[in-house]
Amino acid sequence: MRPFALETANDRSAALRFGRDTGGAEAHITAPTQYLAGGTQLFDLMKLDVMQPRTLVNINGLEREFGAIEAAADGLRLGALARMSEAADHPVIRRDYPVISDALWQAASPQLRNMASLAGNVLQRTRCNYFRDRKWAGCNKRNPGSGCAAIEGVNRRLAVLGVSRHCIANYPGDFANALVALGAEVMIVNPDGDTRTMPFEDLHRLPDDTPHIETNLVPGDLITGFTVPSGPWTRRSLYLKIRDRTSYDFALASAAVALDLGPDGTVRTARIGIGGMVAKPWRSREAEDALAGRVLDEASAADAAEAAFAGAVTHSQTDFKPELGRRTLVRALLDAGRMEIDDV
Ligand SMILES: Cc1cc2nc3c(=O)[nH]c(=O)nc-3n(C[C@H](O)[C@H](O)[C@H](O)COP(=O)(O)OP(=O)(O)OC[C@H]3O[C@@H](n4cnc5c(N)ncnc54)[C@H](O)[C@@H]3O)c2cc1C
Repeated sequence: MRPFALETANDRSAALRFGRDTGGAEAHITAPTQYLAGGTQLFDLMKLDVMQPRTLVNINGLEREFGAIEAAADGLRLGALARMSEAADHPVIRRDYPVISDALWQAASPQLRNMASLAGNVLQRTRCNYFRDRKWAGCNKRNPGSGCAAIEGVNRRLAVLGVSRHCIANYPGDFANALVALGAEVMIVNPDGDTRTMPFEDLHRLPDDTPHIETNLVPGDLITGFTVPSGPWTRRSLYLKIRDRTSYDFALASAAVALDLGPDGTVRTARIGIGGMVAKPWRSREAEDALAGRVLDEASAADAAEAAFAGAVTHSQTDFKPELGRRTLVRALLDAGRMEIDDV
């Protein structure tokens, strides 16, 4: 591991002052100064020498300001520094936004969930071996212009939706799939102290020909939290995660679904996020449109799944993934349709 300086920020202005040292970096994630939350990803990638920040700014002292979880009638407010386990266990989230609680519960391990923050979680980086292992020269994400070794290599765990000819890395997180399905927003403050809000769907970028620029954050931006609007679909919601090993593994396929159904089972609103095989957190409006106004049953769910994966692009080891993704989505939709929703 390379030497680095560790700074501690106990308030927002101190954090942002350090965050100003962007070193002319093109991407937030490659800036020489990185905010340190739980450190569960940052230290991992620093030990692999994939991330090489010169300065870490410990922002855990900002937890009082940016660590709260607040539930109100119009929605949820999740502080950036709330821990994954706090949000997973929060009684209102479990009851009214189960897709969020499910996604967090099925992510990582209890120890990691106790350490890891919500903002750090959404900013986690791909698990693509060619990205994480510097012995491989060909990784456009780590080393722009070097090619993508995964396209002809070991790619079973990588993406089929949103890929480009420059990168087929997958976005590995779970929580982000719930946020994208529910139409969340992310709150940001820049090093000058200016705040802005962005649809969560716009936080991550598709790889296109710049896979090394993963988000629309600029160097020095600090995520302060997330808002999730309430809606009649949030209570009938769930996250289904399919993985090689049921305990403690990243998704091969996942679906975040939230439904508002009429008394006869007609879909008034469907909100659908796809994970496990996507280049970025992925909302499938195609699947949502395929369900709207139809009775939720095997046929309509299958049509939605067909629409969700119509644009899938597979490589040598990912031919099985669109079918796995379709089956995952169908099961998630039908399970959500059967949920018993108590009146509050
Ligand atoms: C073995 C293992 C298994 C895992 N399994 C899963 C899984 O199944 N599902 C899943 O979703 N995740 C999984 N994870 C990922 C884990 O959830 C992330 O490592 C964790 O959520 C990162 O959060 P953190 O607070 O530790 O981030 P850190 O490591 O502290 O930070 C990560 C990045 O985010 C930046 N950052 C942090 N906070 C902010 C902020 N407020 N504003 C701007 N930038 C910020 C940091 O500068 C850094 O670049 C796994 C991780 C490991 C190690």
